[in-house]
Amino acid sequence: MAKKKFPELEQRLFKNVYICMRCNSKMRTNLKKIATGKVKCRRCGYKFLRLKNKDIKV
Ligand SMILES: [Zn+2]
Repeated sequence: MAKKKFPELEQRLFKNVYICMRCNSKMRTNLKKIATGKVKCRRCGYKFLRLKNKDIKV
């Protein structure tokens, strides 16, 4: 297992990364865009996204 050398950097990397709840593809966006409903999955057009760092297991 790799040590987390840069927690701050990692947080920044994951902060604006969202996962499509249907096809699990990653996209970088921000909460503001999500709140306005402008963001859709590039692959399937699904609107429901979750934060990557929350890592909810289904
Ligand atoms: Zn999708």
